[in-house]
Amino acid sequence: MTPRAGAGNPDPGGPKRSGRRWVDSLAMRITVWYGMLLGLCLVAYSLAVGLSFERRMDRELSWRLQVDIELAARALIVDDEGRPRLAGSTLGRHVDEEETGGHWLEIWSPFGERLVATGTLKPPGLDPPTEETPLRQPRTLVLPAGPVREMTDILRFPGGHFLVRAAISEAGTRAQIRTVWRELLVLSAGVLFLGGLGGAALSRHSLKPLDRMADHARRITAAHLHERLPAQRTAELEELRQAFNAALEQLEGSFEQLRRFTADASHELRTPLTALRSVGEVGLRGATTADDAREVIGSMLEEVDRLGRLADELLTLARAEAGEAKLEKEPVDLSALARDVVGHLCVLAEEREQSLEAAVPVPVVATADRSALRQAVVNLVDNAIKYSPERSSIVVATGRRPGAVFIEVRDEGPGLDEVDRRRVFERFYRIDRSRSREMGGTGLGLSLVKWTAEAHDGSVELDTEVGRGSTFRLVLPGSAAGP
Ligand code: ADP
Repeated sequence: MTPRAGAGNPDPGGPKRSGRRWVDSLAMRITVWYGMLLGLCLVAYSLAVGLSFERRMDRELSWRLQVDIELAARALIVDDEGRPRLAGSTLGRHVDEEETGGHWLEIWSPFGERLVATGTLKPPGLDPPTEETPLRQPRTLVLPAGPVREMTDILRFPGGHFLVRAAISEAGTRAQIRTVWRELLVLSAGVLFLGGLGGAALSRHSLKPLDRMADHARRITAAHLHERLPAQRTAELEELRQAFNAALEQLEGSFEQLRRFTADASHELRTPLTALRSVGEVGLRGATTADDAREVIGSMLEEVDRLGRLADELLTLARAEAGEAKLEKEPVDLSALARDVVGHLCVLAEEREQSLEAAVPVPVVATADRSALRQAVVNLVDNAIKYSPERSSIVVATGRRPGAVFIEVRDEGPGLDEVDRRRVFERFYRIDRSRSREMGGTGLGLSLVKWTAEAHDGSVELDTEVGRGSTFRLVLPGSAAGP
């Protein structure tokens, strides 16, 4: 039963790290999430930059058309025959031909005759403007020569008007926009790639302490339960370390308890067995008459009784702690229970000339498992009888207090000092081992009382003073007015 180091683990260095795959790791998840977030930001940034560039280029094209028309209006000269001419070549000065891909300007008579056609663009072959042609509104026309931005307006002069139409190729602007989108794409992909690499390295690096903690934890086997994880620098890991160390502390306590319990239980079982053996041997050698044999058998049966009681109590405790003990709760009148236990044990008290009485003025009702509760009170009264001097008095009383009811056993026994008071509910703890044994005790009675109280969401209280006596009180939840 004693836990051994590395049981079931052939490697004395502790369990090996599980074959963790990178795809299943937390670092991988963090990297993926980080990458997705970075990707989203880059897409949003690229869209914002790209679209705003497109809008700016678009506005610029329209502005250039307007400027062309204004320049044409300023340079317009109409001769005596009413034919228009453009003075100077101011047209298109503001236009970077390489950038835009060329410009074009036409002046039409109101009767659909093209009077002027000039520009660096290959003649785009635009239809004559009609009455439906929108004025001062830039439009994109997709012609065989390529996309063209066009705008038509009226040029007024004293005595008449012309229609002027300016056009600029969109090819250059569109090429620029495509370049910007391509650059944004390449830049984003690069940033995403480098960011992903950096994110992966960063997440791995930040999670390294977790790996170290896991390695350390793996080395803590049952044999090294006293070891603890070292302090961590980050708050989250420090919290994890504290939780883990607290769990270790509890585990160590449980192991220690189990070890002590196993050692105590073996010892307790050995004592009656040794007694049985020696009584048997003495009987074999010395019992010559039937009376002698009866006496030997009587002694042996006493030890068998003790063994049986011990086994029963151990089983009850084991079941209780494994959570297998089923409590059937029902309203139990504690006063009636006190009278019942007093009636049951009064013969034992009489043997020791002790007075045993129930002080139960009014009924006090608790919701409890009747037989578990009765056994607990029997244990308390039995102890009071066993450990109190002859001719002393023992009282079993019941009562209420706010939110609780109780049943208590008061005696005038030896009382317990501070150390015993704290440890008396531990399994197999006895103040005077030989006295307890002499009185047929197993050392488990008070452990069972404590378990019963806790299983009913209650508690056991102990008021005691050395030389004056003790009061063991079983407190159970209940309303002051009774359930
Ligand atoms: P046991 O079977 O030895 O009585 P318990 O768990 O019932 O085991 O009690 C544990 C120890 O507590 C006893 O051995 C005894 O020393 C002490 N004890 C219990 N009840 C009393 C009491 N009423 N007065 C003084 N000592 C007590």
